[in-house]
Amino acid sequence: MTILPVIPISPDQPDILPSGLMKTRRRPSMPPRHLADMDLAARRSAVASLGEPEFRAKQISTHYFGRLVRDAAEMTDLPAGSRDRLTADLLPTLLTPIREQACDDGATRKTLWRLHDGALVESVLMGYPDRVTACVSSQAGCGMACPFCATGQQGLTRNLSVAEIVDQVVYLAGVAASGAVTGSPPRLSRVVFMGMGEPLANYPRVIEAVRRLTSPAPEGLGLSQRHITVSTVGLVPAMRRLIAEGLSVTLALSLHAPDDDLRDELVPVNQRWKVAEVLDAAFDYAAQTGRRVSIEYALIRDVNDQPWRADLLGRLLKGKLAHVNLIPLNPTPGSKWDASPKPVEREFVRRLQEAGVSTTVRDTRGREIDGACGQLAAGELTDASAGGAAADAEVAQ
Ligand code: SAH
Repeated sequence: MTILPVIPISPDQPDILPSGLMKTRRRPSMPPRHLADMDLAARRSAVASLGEPEFRAKQISTHYFGRLVRDAAEMTDLPAGSRDRLTADLLPTLLTPIREQACDDGATRKTLWRLHDGALVESVLMGYPDRVTACVSSQAGCGMACPFCATGQQGLTRNLSVAEIVDQVVYLAGVAASGAVTGSPPRLSRVVFMGMGEPLANYPRVIEAVRRLTSPAPEGLGLSQRHITVSTVGLVPAMRRLIAEGLSVTLALSLHAPDDDLRDELVPVNQRWKVAEVLDAAFDYAAQTGRRVSIEYALIRDVNDQPWRADLLGRLLKGKLAHVNLIPLNPTPGSKWDASPKPVEREFVRRLQEAGVSTTVRDTRGREIDGACGQLAAGELTDASAGGAAADAEVAQ
């Protein structure tokens, strides 16, 4: 593992309130408005209200989304006297990287961000020979309480704003463009909402973030909707809303058990929306978009990895537009659970394939830096920052 130097985006980070004060706040503190919160028309009005010509909205958008530049000094097509005012108003610092770590020979990089109110979130950049993927957070913490997930143990701090979501991607696109992701193309092309949080619990902001990421530059980042994956525990009403949205993003459903008894425990929201109902919504999404849904299934030794559960899952998915993505469990600190042994995993795959269900086992990128699926738990890093630093020192030796 390599500990990378922290690159401050801007030194003018607002002071953070003492934690005691933060606790007494009734409403979570949302960040200042940012260019990425607005469509181009709203940016034009924002620029005009600063007394600048409206076409500056397009210029500054081109810097941010097209060139991945956010530093006023680099915006040489803007008059020197306007640059600072425009960037201060439209590009306030939302995310300050406080730790960056790399592993897998530089192909996986995790960034821990501090938000304007002191909340912490993480994102992961993953390079492959043919593509670069950003795994981003949609909430600080998560309220879904899945017992095997590190973020789930933290509880929810707050929703991220549209720009806090988009800015993670734009920042990581800049890292990729710098050639820092070893052995991968320089263009970030995919985004998965598989970082911290439940994206469909922050529905309007996540949808707007998807629109911004997929609008052509300079309005947005110009990614393909099909290259964006939204992963959910299965909030059925929000899934139904997503069907009506008419987007063609890929939907991933974190199933983890084919039967209600076990899923009630592993994914507590199942107590509200059962396996049959959640699968129905997923299949309807697939029918509407023509896109296979991805059924996520973390294999946990002696918990959900029995042959009969593979057979039951096979029966539920047979003939459907679905693909199973098995994830070897990444045990979280103090967890009583472990990954399934490889022969058990192979048998699980075999039975699903025998039932005619397309199945793959996900590679577990970023394990070394706690950057793999379900391991993002920024809250623990702050609560035990001394411990975290000690752990780094051990690895760095
Ligand atoms: N809230 C969304 C996104 C969460 S993270 C969701 O649940 O889909 C993305 C995936 O990682 C989910 O499928 C989640 O269940 C899985 N995951 C969480 N903790 C894990 C762990 N410890 N090991 C393996 N996968 C895990």
